[in-house]
Amino acid sequence: MLTKLKSLPNKTVSRTAAHKMMDILQKKYPDADCELKFKTPFQLLIATILSAQTTDVSVNKVTGTLFKEFPDAKALAAAKLERVKAIIKPTGYYNAKAANIQACAQQLVDQYDGGVPKTQEELTKLRGVGRKTANVVLGVIYGIPGWTVDTHVQRLSERLGFTKEKDPIKIEGSLEKLFPNQDWSKLSITLIFHGRRICFAKKPACHLCPIDKLCPSAYKIK
Ligand code: SF4
Repeated sequence: MLTKLKSLPNKTVSRTAAHKMMDILQKKYPDADCELKFKTPFQLLIATILSAQTTDVSVNKVTGTLFKEFPDAKALAAAKLERVKAIIKPTGYYNAKAANIQACAQQLVDQYDGGVPKTQEELTKLRGVGRKTANVVLGVIYGIPGWTVDTHVQRLSERLGFTKEKDPIKIEGSLEKLFPNQDWSKLSITLIFHGRRICFAKKPACHLCPIDKLCPSAYKIK
């Protein structure tokens, strides 16, 4: 949930200003990368499903055990559901998440011989996988650019004046028009890094922010 909606910019910034802000943020976070731990495409897919409504840190705390016991789709599909629930419980919503990741693993076994498909259309047909999760997998594993409109990208896109849209799919559309295709995945991760480290949902640390002279919301959100 965004804080103090009335403080958000009522106009979008120019393309030049948007690119300048992102250039600065990319220099601030040159090593920005996916913070989920995984060894295979399957493991990234499952970790991303588990990351809904929680942090990557809490997902990383459970996936060590989860992937040790169930390293691939075949093993997870055959797992005892109660054991999966017990392992992933700290990530929250564990009943639904356990059912989703096991059903997803079964689909991968049945339809892709345990592999992970490479298109958004195929990925979003998997249980528990929406556009956001699909774009993470496509960008990180296959190098196919896409915007990951999670809570950070949603919040920052609005604060920085990149869009006035509220719906994640419409935000994705605005961002796709504003920035070149090949940069989408890297820019998503850069915004996520900035949202986690400085532009917090509550009380963004504008005094530490390298784009405070350009950001239309600077020092306006308390
Ligand atoms: S100036 Fe403040 S509101 Fe703007 S991006 Fe930086 S931290 Fe966020």
